[in-house]
Amino acid sequence: MPNRPSLHAVETGVCFVDVVHKLNDSFDTGKTQSLEWRKSQLKALETLLKDNQHDILQALKNDLGKCKTEAMVAEQGFLLSDIKHTLKHLDKWAKPRKVSTPMVAWPGKSFRKPEPLGTVLIIGAWNYPLQLLLAPYIAAIAAGNCAVLKPSELAEETSSLVAKLIPQYMDNSCVAVIEGGKDEATALLACKWDHIFYTGGEVVGKIVMSAAAKHLTPVTLELGGKSPCFVDKNTNLAVTARRLVWGKWMNAGQTCIAPDYVIVEKGFEQKLIDAVKKELKKQYGKAPLSSRDYGNIVNHRHLKRLESYLENVNVVYGGELDESRPAMAPTLVLEPSLDSPLMKEEIFGPILPIITVDNMEAGIKFVNSRPKPLALYAFSDKDDVLDNIISKTSSGSVCTNDTMLFMTNPELPFGGVGNSGMGSYHGQAGFDTFSHIKTVMKRSFALDVFFRYAPFSKFKLSL
Ligand code: NAD
Repeated sequence: MPNRPSLHAVETGVCFVDVVHKLNDSFDTGKTQSLEWRKSQLKALETLLKDNQHDILQALKNDLGKCKTEAMVAEQGFLLSDIKHTLKHLDKWAKPRKVSTPMVAWPGKSFRKPEPLGTVLIIGAWNYPLQLLLAPYIAAIAAGNCAVLKPSELAEETSSLVAKLIPQYMDNSCVAVIEGGKDEATALLACKWDHIFYTGGEVVGKIVMSAAAKHLTPVTLELGGKSPCFVDKNTNLAVTARRLVWGKWMNAGQTCIAPDYVIVEKGFEQKLIDAVKKELKKQYGKAPLSSRDYGNIVNHRHLKRLESYLENVNVVYGGELDESRPAMAPTLVLEPSLDSPLMKEEIFGPILPIITVDNMEAGIKFVNSRPKPLALYAFSDKDDVLDNIISKTSSGSVCTNDTMLFMTNPELPFGGVGNSGMGSYHGQAGFDTFSHIKTVMKRSFALDVFFRYAPFSKFKLSL
């Protein structure tokens, strides 16, 4: 059973001691251990998502201008298929995993037995405010935990909808939603948890990790970074541009795994720019700021941040703003200075810088001189070019000849490496993240080999 939380009221006066105590008490009853309870909760969440589709899509539209199809695919639909996959495999995942036993321990049996951690804290980000909060929650339920969910305050409507719906559908003795921003998050982090699962930026990631360290609480950090995209000159340019546009400008570029910048060999840049422009017009029309399929920037502060990236760089396409939405048109920048904020910070918006290199090896060198990215993309007709990039770079995930699609495979763990995060989830990886894989060895009283025991002087060993 998990330790009781030792909680401090924080300077702000916000304190969640009662919430955590209540969830710990529920966990201690053992009800979440039962697979029936876990399945019933997963089904309840499925019903919540289905019953409230209209309100969910509306909240996402209001928060981020997300078009219906995008919201259905990347948020509601993603979660529904995650639940389906989890329900299908839960019995197998939760079973003790038998492993071999060395002769020295015969007769005996060895297992790796997943057990729930206890009460976990899940802090979500605003860009996919439903998916990033509830996908870890699905894994937490599957593994048999109680959970506190802290949605992002920047996606206000989604946050309040989740806070309204969760108590209506879920077992309230095992889950709580705490809305709020920094103060509430700080107060939550002061509590002792059995695991903290955080999605967001690196700066806050460090705050989360140091708060967790005070209680030796394990963390999963789903962070971000600059995800590069190599485009080799030997590529199917039309399909490359189409998939690049899809991955970069979905949610107006506010996707943690969106291609952040493109690397091409010198001389190929104009061909790519022309193909991307053509594709942008196809997907979002000549006036993307009026397109219903094109998303908003989350708020004016972020629009200003993005606008500032366009100072002193060569904008070759786009750059228009609509302060009222707020939104920024799809924008291409050619050869920005590698020391510019555009090339130093994660863009997290609709600007795509294109940098040129002498050859792909130089591109690999450049990527390896920067913090390890969350995702890395490479387009080429040639397998050896792709394999070379895969083997010489390190990133949370890598996807060739497409962008972001690896997210659709629940068999693939999703997470970062180095500065882009630690730990992973989706499918069984999520179940394991929210479980302790306990070592179990079952022995019998038979065959009690005498030479294990002292006094060892009884053996006349000649060395
Ligand atoms: P953020 O770090 O500003 O906020 C994320 C969460 O942290 C919110 O719930 C917020 O309330 C909370 N928070 C804010 N300040 C805090 C503080 N001082 N102490 C404790 N909690 C605090 O991140 P963001 O702007 O919401 O998200 C953008 C970043 O997240 C980008 O870097 C992006 O790449 C990354 N991201 C990563 C993933 C992923 O799955 N790896 C997904 C989405 C976003």
